[in-house]
Amino acid sequence: MTDNFDIVIIGGGILGTSISYFLSFLNKSKKIAIIEQESTVAFHTSGRNTGKVHAPYLYNPEKKKLFAKAAFHGYEMWKEYSKLKKLPFRKDGVIEVALNKKDVKTLEKYLKWGKQNGLEDKDIKLLDKEEIKKIEPEIKCESALYVYKDGSADYSVFTNSIMKDSKNNGTEFLLDSKVTEIKKENGQWEITLNQKKKIVTKFLINAAGGEAINIAHNMNVAKNFTDVHFRGEYWIVPKEYHNLTKASVYSVPEFPDYPFLDPHWIIRVDGSCEIGPNAVPVFSPYGYDNAENIKEFIPKIIEMLGSGARKAIFDKQFQELAINEIQSSMSKSVMINRVKRFLPKIDSDKITEKGTAGIRSSVIDENGKFVPDVILIDDEKSFHILNYNSPGATGALPFATHIVNHLNKNGFIGNELVDAQCGPWKFSEIIEKLEK
Ligand SMILES: Cc1cc2nc3c(=O)[nH]c(=O)nc-3n(C[C@H](O)[C@H](O)[C@H](O)COP(=O)(O)OP(=O)(O)OC[C@H]3O[C@@H](n4cnc5c(N)ncnc54)[C@H](O)[C@@H]3O)c2cc1C
Repeated sequence: MTDNFDIVIIGGGILGTSISYFLSFLNKSKKIAIIEQESTVAFHTSGRNTGKVHAPYLYNPEKKKLFAKAAFHGYEMWKEYSKLKKLPFRKDGVIEVALNKKDVKTLEKYLKWGKQNGLEDKDIKLLDKEEIKKIEPEIKCESALYVYKDGSADYSVFTNSIMKDSKNNGTEFLLDSKVTEIKKENGQWEITLNQKKKIVTKFLINAAGGEAINIAHNMNVAKNFTDVHFRGEYWIVPKEYHNLTKASVYSVPEFPDYPFLDPHWIIRVDGSCEIGPNAVPVFSPYGYDNAENIKEFIPKIIEMLGSGARKAIFDKQFQELAINEIQSSMSKSVMINRVKRFLPKIDSDKITEKGTAGIRSSVIDENGKFVPDVILIDDEKSFHILNYNSPGATGALPFATHIVNHLNKNGFIGNELVDAQCGPWKFSEIIEKLEK
């Protein structure tokens, strides 16, 4: 027998799960399912990130307005949700450091962006060398932007809790189910799971993270885009360094045109510390080890050479960056030295344990340029979310409401209760804040 659904979401990451959460409150009579290939939600990027609940100071309010707004409101929503569910959340702040005069100018720009994106004077402050020394004596820098309204959380815990709420409202989570084929049959989508079981849905939402492009291509959508994958690796820092700073420390990125930052000094929500992530080019969204990368090497290279990615990989600056990152993967001290520039006390010999790596999939257009923003595509009876990157976990709840509202306004799903109370939030009030 084939199961029939009204709405199916591919991808049990933080975004797909959050979309299901809001849909489950607004569409009580609809049959909704999430398909996830792994045995748990948040198995990939959503459970393998830095765990920061980011204040929106890194995002240009003109170019990344929606992402900045989602981060701004996401912070408040996760804070409220964690209080309600008694989940760990720490407002522990982040310090962005300038290592030279040029970086100081960038910090001034970040301060301006942060304020334009809604941060108040009490949330963000530019400090000179002497001021930061008094607060954080171990940090060496020219100046620093102290972002007090920045937090730490465990997004795997959040996603699992959101899943429980969504399940309680009737969403079916089809775990251990890999989508292997999607076909249009009689005006509906017929989806094959694990090359065997078939389900049918009236509407399909593609929130498949690192595989979203492949799924879109299989449905004849977004053929002008391709993606490249970067593995972000972490090193776990021993206990003796846990009190080195009070806040996590980021540095102004060396290559601001690329969609990742330099490795940071991270304080996790449980107080443990790590260094990372770097951004090592790999050949699969699951390229955590050599076996997977070797398996995907030839098909990915062929795909890249036949698309806009060809221009990106032959770009001199990209090659320089890739070599830097590969070196920081092959040599622990190369990676640690990037953080030693602003925390000289760290001794890389004392750091011996690797953390859990996460993979970022960045979309490239036909001209070989990295697409800086998320890509949202409406197609017939389907919706695709591509390039959903940092700070995607911070903004997942508001972003999910934006998507659900968009689908409703365009008549794709027809929410029954647009004014519904969704846990601690009223749906219409979140939308109002996002549209302000
Ligand atoms: C190294 C790193 C650090 C980061 N740090 C932060 C941070 O500190 N703060 C922050 O806010 N953001 C951070 N991010 C970004 C954030 O983690 C992501 O934006 C977010 O997790 C993306 O969520 P997602 O649900 O779109 O994707 P995913 O978590 O990748 O979920 C997609 C899901 O789809 C499933 N799937 C794919 N294909 C199929 C298929 N064929 N069949 C069935 N299931 C399928 C996958 O198994 C996966 O579970 C970081 C990202 C990286 C890589």
